[in-house]
Amino acid sequence: MIDLRPYQHGAIGNLRASIGAGNNRVLLQAATGAGKTIIACEMIRRATDKSKRVIFIAHRKEIIHQTSGKLDAFGIDHGIIMASHGRVNNHVGLFIEGLDVPAASCCILARPTKSLTIYLQAVGRVMRPHESKTDCIILDCAGLTYEHGFVDDHREWTLNGKIKRPKDDAPAVHICEECFAAYSKAQHPHECPECGFETPTEQRETKHADVDMVELTKDVMAQIRAKRIKRLEVGKCKTLDDFIELGKLRGYKAGWAYIKWNERKAWLQSHGYAVPSEEATA
Ligand SMILES: [Zn+2]
Repeated sequence: MIDLRPYQHGAIGNLRASIGAGNNRVLLQAATGAGKTIIACEMIRRATDKSKRVIFIAHRKEIIHQTSGKLDAFGIDHGIIMASHGRVNNHVGLFIEGLDVPAASCCILARPTKSLTIYLQAVGRVMRPHESKTDCIILDCAGLTYEHGFVDDHREWTLNGKIKRPKDDAPAVHICEECFAAYSKAQHPHECPECGFETPTEQRETKHADVDMVELTKDVMAQIRAKRIKRLEVGKCKTLDDFIELGKLRGYKAGWAYIKWNERKAWLQSHGYAVPSEEATA
C-alpha cells in the first residue's frame, strides 16, 4: 500500500469535484515526477473497491509495465491486453461459441465477419450475468457494430431459414465526432449520450426542376441510355489528352476538349482535389 502525498490527494479531490459539477471529460495534468501513475492507481483502487472495472490505456510498453507494477503495489488485481503479451486470452475462432465463463467481461473483436451469427455468438461470451460485474466492455476493432448493428438491437428472427433483414434496414450506428463513442442515432438523435456533443443536423437542399413528363418508350429509353454512355465516356477522361482523343473520336472541334478540361479542373479545385499538372502532348 502506498500513501499519497497531500497534493496527490488534492488532485483527486479536485477531479472528483469537477466531475461532480457535471464535467465528464476532465484532464488531470501534473509535472514529471509528480506521481501521475500513483494518482491513477489510487483512483483505480477506489473504483475497484466499489466493484467497478477500469481500463488504463497507455501507448508504450514501459508505461504498461510500470503501471502494472504500481497496481500490484496497490494490491489491485489486473490483466494486461497488449500485443504479444501472455496475460490476455488471445484466440482465433476458439471461444466464439460453447464457452461459458460468465465472469468474462471484455470482448475484443479483432476480426471482421459478414456473419451476424458469429458476431452475436462472440459478443455473447461476455453478455452473461455474473455477480462480479454490472456490464461488459466490447472493443470493436473490426467495425462489426457498423456491419451488424448493436448487439442489443431488436432483430426479427424466422424459422424459415433466413433472417429477415431488409437491405435498407442498415443499423443506424453513429460515431461521435468529439469522443468517438458509438451510439444509436435512433435513441439519441440530437446529442452524444457519452459526452453530450450535439450532432450537427444535416442540411438537405431541395432542388426543383421544371421538366415535362414523357412516355417511356423503347426509343426514349435508348436515347437516355445513349446519353448516359456519352456522359460516362466524358467522366472517364482523366487528362487533357483523354479529352482530345474522345473529341477526335466523336468528330468534335478541337476546342471542345479544352473547354471540358477547364471545366474538369475547375470542378476538381472547387472540391478540394489535386489538379493533374499534365498538359496536352498531342
Ligand atoms: Zn461523444
